[in-house]
Amino acid sequence: MEETQLKRRNFLKAAVASTVAAGTLSATAAQAETASSKKDVVKAASKIPRKLLGTTGASVPILQLGTSQRLDPKYDRIMHRCFKEGVDYFDTALSYGWGSSHRAIANFLKQMGDRKNIWLTSKSGSEDPDELIRDIDQCLSELETDYLDLYLMHGVNDTDLLGKDFIRAGEKLRKSGKTRFFGFSCHSGNVVELMNLAAKVGGIDAILFRYNFRRYGDRELNLAIDACKKAGIGLMAMKTMGSVPSGAEKVVKFQSQDFTLAQAKLKSVWADERIDTVVSEMDSVRVTRENVAAAKTEKSLAASDMHQLHQLAAQTAHLSCQGCSNLCEASVAQNVRIADTLRFLMYHECYGQAEKAQALYRALPQEERQFNNVDFTAATKICPQGIDIENRIKHAQNLLA
Ligand code: SF4
Repeated sequence: MEETQLKRRNFLKAAVASTVAAGTLSATAAQAETASSKKDVVKAASKIPRKLLGTTGASVPILQLGTSQRLDPKYDRIMHRCFKEGVDYFDTALSYGWGSSHRAIANFLKQMGDRKNIWLTSKSGSEDPDELIRDIDQCLSELETDYLDLYLMHGVNDTDLLGKDFIRAGEKLRKSGKTRFFGFSCHSGNVVELMNLAAKVGGIDAILFRYNFRRYGDRELNLAIDACKKAGIGLMAMKTMGSVPSGAEKVVKFQSQDFTLAQAKLKSVWADERIDTVVSEMDSVRVTRENVAAAKTEKSLAASDMHQLHQLAAQTAHLSCQGCSNLCEASVAQNVRIADTLRFLMYHECYGQAEKAQALYRALPQEERQFNNVDFTAATKICPQGIDIENRIKHAQNLLA
C-alpha cells in the first residue's frame, strides 16, 4: 500500500530506532545516524506509552495487536516482535482465524512463559447469557490459561445485550476470576445508542468500537464517548485506518514531515485523549514497525497533517462505509446485511484479504445476502457517506459470492 511505504526521512529514523530495539540493525547503519537522530533513537527505543483503561486501574499499551488474521501456530514472529516492543496486549476472539487464533496464542504464551505480563482479551458472539458464561470456558481451554484480562461480547448490535441478564453474567465471570474485566465490541450503526446505554447501566469496564479520522465531526458519537468516559468505561478504538482502496487515497497526495499516512491516521486517534488504546491488526513486520514507531514518537500531528486527513475524509467518503447499518438497512424492505457486506468488501479491496472476505460473506445467512430484488434508493439517499450502495453491493457480490 502506498501509505505504508517507508518514504519519509523522519519516519525512517523512528522505524530504524524500532529495528535497533529489536537488535537487528547493522552497526554501520547505526553509526550513520547523526547525533540528533541518536537522541531520537534513544527516545523511540523506549517502550510503547501506556494508559489506564478507564477506571479499571489496569495499565495498557496505547497500541494492541489484533489477531483476526491467521497467526503462525508454531512461532508467530509478529506476536513476538510486538511483545518485545511493549505491545503486550493481544486481542482475540473465539471466531478469529477461523477458530485457530486461540491455539496459536496458547503456543505463544508457552514460548513466553510470562502470562502475568501479557494481556489477553477474547470475545464470544453468543447472544445468550448462559452461553456467554459457557463460552469463556472454551476460551480458557483453547488459550490454556486460567483467566482472561478482558472478556467482550463480540459485535453487539442490540441494546437487549446490555440487559440485566448479560450484565449479571459479566459480574459472575468477574467474581469467578475467569476474567478480570467485562465489556463489549461493536461494529454497528447503533454504537451511539449502545455506548449511551452502557454509560447508564454500569457493569461495563471497556468498549471496543469503530473510531477513526472520519468520525471527528460526529456530534452524537462524541457525546456518547464523553458519557462513557465520565462513567469510567475504558475506550478502545478499532478500524482506525478508515480505509478505502489504496488507489482512491491518491486523491490527496499526503505529505508530512514526520508521518506516513497510516501513522497519521493512528496519531489522529491517539490525539483524542478519551481513547485509551487502539487495536491494530498488524499482519507484517513492516506494518508492525510502522505502527510501533508512530506509537513511540512523542511528535504530534502538524496542523497540515490533520488538514490533509480531513480532505481525505471528505474526498473519499463515498467509498468508506462507517457501519451505520441502522440507517440504510432500515430503509430497505428486505432483511439484508449492507454494512457487513461493505465491511467484507473493505477487507478484500483495502487489505487484500480475499480469503477472509469471501469466507465471512459466504457465512452470512443466504437470505441476508440476497440483494437481487432490493431497492436501494432510500438507503442511498439516507447514507451520510454518500455511498452508491447498489453499485458497491453489486461489486461486493462479484468479488465475494
Ligand atoms: S452504507 Fe452508508 S448508511 Fe449504510 S452503513 Fe455504510 S455508511 Fe452507513
